[in-house]
Amino acid sequence: MEISKKRIRSMIMSANIVGRFAPSPSGRMHLGNAFSYLLAWLSARSAGGRIVLRQEDLDPVRCNRNYADQLEQDLLWLGLDWDEGGSGGGDPYYQSQRSDLYAHYLHELEGTGLIYPCFCTRGALHAPSAPHASDGTPIYPGTCRGLSPAQRAEKAMLRRPALRIAVPEQEITFTDGLQGPYREHLARDCGDFILRRSDGVFAYQLAVVVDDALMGVNQVVRGRDLLSSTPRQLWLQELLAFPHPEYYHAPLLCAGDGRRLSKRDGDLDLGELRAGGASPEILLGKLAHWAGLIDREEPVSLPELLREFDWSRVKRTDITVK
Ligand code: GLU
Repeated sequence: MEISKKRIRSMIMSANIVGRFAPSPSGRMHLGNAFSYLLAWLSARSAGGRIVLRQEDLDPVRCNRNYADQLEQDLLWLGLDWDEGGSGGGDPYYQSQRSDLYAHYLHELEGTGLIYPCFCTRGALHAPSAPHASDGTPIYPGTCRGLSPAQRAEKAMLRRPALRIAVPEQEITFTDGLQGPYREHLARDCGDFILRRSDGVFAYQLAVVVDDALMGVNQVVRGRDLLSSTPRQLWLQELLAFPHPEYYHAPLLCAGDGRRLSKRDGDLDLGELRAGGASPEILLGKLAHWAGLIDREEPVSLPELLREFDWSRVKRTDITVK
């Protein structure tokens, strides 16, 4: 399946750009998150577009409302505003409040006959010998795909299953706005993936596709770590007859040892930086310089960045920042 850039463009030309921030509120925002939100904001705003804030708090153990509120405050402090969503927003923009919608679309997908219960334990799936996808997750070998109804009933007495979707022998290709052409063979490179976990929590891949469509998002700017999720999302969009957004996968910020910044890098989280007296302009200057948008690292304002913003100036490869 070729998702042509032309098709995506033509769908978007008729609508205005709707971008989004989709944070997972499981900790304080760090500069790596701020980096992709800045690009998402500049991309949408420079085209006169709108922005939705959606809190991806599906995981009840890792996420909470305090972090979500703190994320909003950090975004606003940086000047990265939004038009819809977050705590101000009418319809729920917290994924934890949208389970009925995910259940509805899961049910719709069940009509394809591709969904099946999977009883495999985490341990079995993470065996070191299992082949791994490019994002490091094990490729599911299809163990539970062919179980008979009797076998399913028997296993269901012992364990609540996850629900997986069987992927076809199909290659998905699309053109990322920043990273260029990208392709993945669904069966070989991803494998059957989970739509609802065994604890009943809906999976990111389903939630993000449903939400982007229902919230009218037509431009997704996010970290390059999610590039390999995009073919699965494009395929789910086809199955559900949803439009395809355009995608821009931003480089990741990395520490000197090559690993990407994470919540462990407390010195680069907004809490530490703000407490240390950094101003929004100083941080925007750092981020914009790392992105390739300004030549020297110096304080800069959002209106200045907005005037000059152009994706052709943004770096594609990961950026070492400490
Ligand atoms: N919630 C995800 C994260 O914070 C982003 C998901 C997305 O942009 O599709 O990593």
